[in-house]
Amino acid sequence: MTHTVPGFALSPTLRGLRCVQCSTLHPPEDLPLGCPGCDVTRRNSNLFCVYDDGARTLQERLPYRSTPALGEGETPLVRLPWLENASVKNEAANPTGSHKDRFAAMVVAHAAASGYERVAIGSSGNAGIALGAYAAAAGLRCTVAGFTRLSETTREQLSALGADLHLFDTDRERVGLIRDLAAKPDTLAVSNIAEPFVGCHPVGIEGYKRIAWEIADQAPAEVRHIVLPTCRGDLAWGVYRGFHDLHELRGTPMPRLHLVEPIPRLAAVLGGAPVTGRFPGDTGRLHSIAGHTTTVQAHRAVTLSGGTAVVVSPESAEEWFARLCGRGHVWERSSVTVFAAHERLRAEDTIRASDHTVLVATSHFFKGL
Ligand SMILES: [Zn+2]
Repeated sequence: MTHTVPGFALSPTLRGLRCVQCSTLHPPEDLPLGCPGCDVTRRNSNLFCVYDDGARTLQERLPYRSTPALGEGETPLVRLPWLENASVKNEAANPTGSHKDRFAAMVVAHAAASGYERVAIGSSGNAGIALGAYAAAAGLRCTVAGFTRLSETTREQLSALGADLHLFDTDRERVGLIRDLAAKPDTLAVSNIAEPFVGCHPVGIEGYKRIAWEIADQAPAEVRHIVLPTCRGDLAWGVYRGFHDLHELRGTPMPRLHLVEPIPRLAAVLGGAPVTGRFPGDTGRLHSIAGHTTTVQAHRAVTLSGGTAVVVSPESAEEWFARLCGRGHVWERSSVTVFAAHERLRAEDTIRASDHTVLVATSHFFKGL
């Protein structure tokens, strides 16, 4: 911890970090294993930022009001003529092509303000590129632990951003590197190192709240449902917290959050399986939402909002990818799962024709190169 970049300051309204599972309030410090109490019981859970009661504006409910800005956020909410009573929040319009820019901007501000010299992440691509870009913007070093299947193009892009890339065959090895780096005082690890996984750094997840705030301002009608892709639930939890702020400060009704996954993980937990379980299955080319575990925060985002988990197979995603490309839409395969899920939720009448719905398209298909 040898230098502090001026310009990024922790909000004085931040009171601490609360456990998603046991509700214990911890001081606002970096806890890479999530809630220490839940870690002891091996029922690991992420934390989330809580603010003073006097924080009565949305801006006062962010850990950093100033972040390294590359133009992230304020993405368009798009109405598609063939999609009845639904809009698409186009997160592919972010600077590096995915919603992860919102996370990266917030967590890099935190790293810089806290005096870290390096940020480190385990990533399948999107998050690594986002973190690499924002670390470069703030003058920090960035280490990315990826899989050996990572495409040559992504490797070149990470190298161009100055990121230090390490490739592994297994998740265990990949997480091992991030765990080793997290033990270094000059490095902030921003991705999962707990076993079982809990989700990424809570300060970064706060960046996703703006998606909810923007949707509330942009939507043509009251939003009853949000459909979004999920892996470990960072995005879903951030969006849930954003709507929670809107509910507290403006009385905005909480929409139901429907989390889309390629295999039954969260769906299995909702059916009674333990949240810490492993759920094998083929995730095909849906790399951004792959993995065989779920998290407490994903479970809470669904249950607290009255939503559901929707399983969309890799085959169904391929069909929708082709269908959307045929209409000129350039979202990655993991993102188009929300269209398949929406179609099913409409057919089941979980989403009624009169309910306005927002689908979150998380990433550009250039990310799959
Ligand atoms: Zn806890």
